[in-house]
Amino acid sequence: MPDLHRILDGLDPEQQRAVLAPRGPVCVLAGAGTGKTRTITRRIAHLIDSGQVNPSQVLAVTFTTRAAGELRSRLRSLDIAGPGNSVQAQTFHAAALRQLRYFWPRGLSWELLDHKMPLVARAARHVGLTTTSESLRDLTSEIEWAKGSLITPGEYVAHAGVAGRDTPFPHDAVAAVFDTYEAAKRDGAHLLLDFDDLIIYAGELLRESDHAADFRSRYRCFVVDEYQDITPVQQRLLEAWLGERDNLTVVGDANQTIYSFAGATAKYLLDFTRRHPEATLVRLERDYRSTPEVVSLANQVIGAATERSPGTRLELVGQRPRGPVPRPAEFADDPREANGVAAQIKHLVNAGTSPSEIAVLYRVNAQSERFEEALTEAGIPYQVRGSEAFFMRTEIGQAMRNLEAAAGRTDLPAGAETTRVVRAVLAPLGLSETEPAGPTAKARWESLRTLMSVVDEIIADQPGMTLRRLVSELALRAGERHTPAQVGVTLASLHAAKGLEWDAVFLVGLTEGSVPITQAIERGDEAVEEERRLFYVGITRAREHLYLSWSLSRSGAGRATRRRTRFLDGIDLDPNRSGRCTVCGAELVNPESRVRGRCASCRIEDRDESLVSALRAWRADRAQRRGVRELAILTDAMLDAVADRRPVDARSLGA
Ligand code: ATP
Ligand code: MG
Repeated sequence: MPDLHRILDGLDPEQQRAVLAPRGPVCVLAGAGTGKTRTITRRIAHLIDSGQVNPSQVLAVTFTTRAAGELRSRLRSLDIAGPGNSVQAQTFHAAALRQLRYFWPRGLSWELLDHKMPLVARAARHVGLTTTSESLRDLTSEIEWAKGSLITPGEYVAHAGVAGRDTPFPHDAVAAVFDTYEAAKRDGAHLLLDFDDLIIYAGELLRESDHAADFRSRYRCFVVDEYQDITPVQQRLLEAWLGERDNLTVVGDANQTIYSFAGATAKYLLDFTRRHPEATLVRLERDYRSTPEVVSLANQVIGAATERSPGTRLELVGQRPRGPVPRPAEFADDPREANGVAAQIKHLVNAGTSPSEIAVLYRVNAQSERFEEALTEAGIPYQVRGSEAFFMRTEIGQAMRNLEAAAGRTDLPAGAETTRVVRAVLAPLGLSETEPAGPTAKARWESLRTLMSVVDEIIADQPGMTLRRLVSELALRAGERHTPAQVGVTLASLHAAKGLEWDAVFLVGLTEGSVPITQAIERGDEAVEEERRLFYVGITRAREHLYLSWSLSRSGAGRATRRRTRFLDGIDLDPNRSGRCTVCGAELVNPESRVRGRCASCRIEDRDESLVSALRAWRADRAQRRGVRELAILTDAMLDAVADRRPVDARSLGA
């Protein structure tokens, strides 16, 4: 069991305030890399350690399986719950699925629909539409937006009009597809539930009071990470979980809302203290992830946003030592950009950076191909995250079908019996003990091994899992396009990179039409601002090295057809050059102050009046005894150390 000292260790005063806030509503509004996830895990530890809740009464939710896994592993490392008595940290979908399995009425069978596209295609044909794969994808995401926003087929046309939804077919045709799709799910022997239905039905079941009482006696403390990503339907489920209670901690960054096209909205985050006037509100602005150079760029990009809601004006203050200035690079065409990036990656790897500490991030998955080719040619290992995805591979599809069939026959108890049945099912597909020869067999073998590692991870997290539950858990991850971690340089879309961090990040293809993407430019300012937030998310993934590249044409035909993204207009990539304090206008002599854009006094005044006056008194006292010039330098060094909360090195003070 951790004690309070251990729980608070490595937290700054604001983070500690969030951890120690009394039971009840807490909202942490904070920028990227400020330690939100660290803070909420410590708060959970404190609530348990102080006896306010039992581990099994805590439900922590987030939006991606990777983020939920991250929460679980950080909680495990805090050692707050005894074995078999762990805190539930899950995605909204997984929590809803678990709840449905428990409360679902007997005699009514249902199945999880993990691929909705074929059913949407059938519905589109039924209403007489001719679709392409692109329009089908758009129809599917339109249905997801509507369901996430609590909009029924009957209400769709009115809402889509108000929201100005850009759809491949007229709004009434989309509504007809939506309606047909919903009816088709209720048509067969089983009820089919898609991912949004899990959330909808879980909320509905709690409306029946005996379920609600049962559920609420089990869970007494709720925590939501990345709260800016919540959709109205998920918010409704969260409210159903809570009932009249208010033991809820939410953490989020409105500047990282990048899923509003899918119905996510930061309004609940920004509105939190209005809905919970007694809430403890904590703002964090110290960025522990990135160098001051990266932080400065992030601040400039997000600071230039045209429209700011109150509560989003959060300036990050970098805490790490200085690093390299973000490097822009313009190329004549796409192949040159890909080769240039691969060459730079090779350079980093040769200088000692591990490939798994490097990421190449782009706007759309189609952009990955040229970077894959260039990296292959350069002999650098890589993995593509979140695109086609792993679960769409033929051998994985086959494995999932075989596992489902096996689960239908048996419902074995867990642990070793399940870590054995899975292996027996996968063996005929090519999961041998030793690596096979030949590229095709080897690729299959690697995929199956990766699937096996996901299975092991699930069983380690939730021991006692039956095969049937394991299969639904895998289906959930498939639906969330979870690509298991592998070694090598990560290639990912900006969306898929959220919440992750690497030593070196390459933001590529930074042209108008890509970032912001053409469709967003066509839709107008609001959509362009979402693209700006996406760019901000990309920048803030870098711990140290940040490369920004773009190319002026697709192929080397000689004519520039593109231009650099507007988000870099007027940006100073080298903050060391800017010379005046943005608060008081004083000239910035100290390099540290130049990077931060604020003189040391202004940085300290933000934080601690008494320290400033103590230091001023100290300066006046020394000025009488020593040379003024030397004293000014010493004082600046000390002020910097204090402003940044670094320990003061007595030798640097030259006493
Ligand atoms: P994001 O918005 O990208 O999700 P976040 O706010 O959740 O970021 P974390 O991932 O919790 O940030 O923290 C970012 C990094 O800073 C992590 O490596 C974390 O361990 C570290 N960190 C957090 N708080 C502190 C602290 N007080 N002192 C030192 N390091 C810290
Ligand atoms: Mg986080």
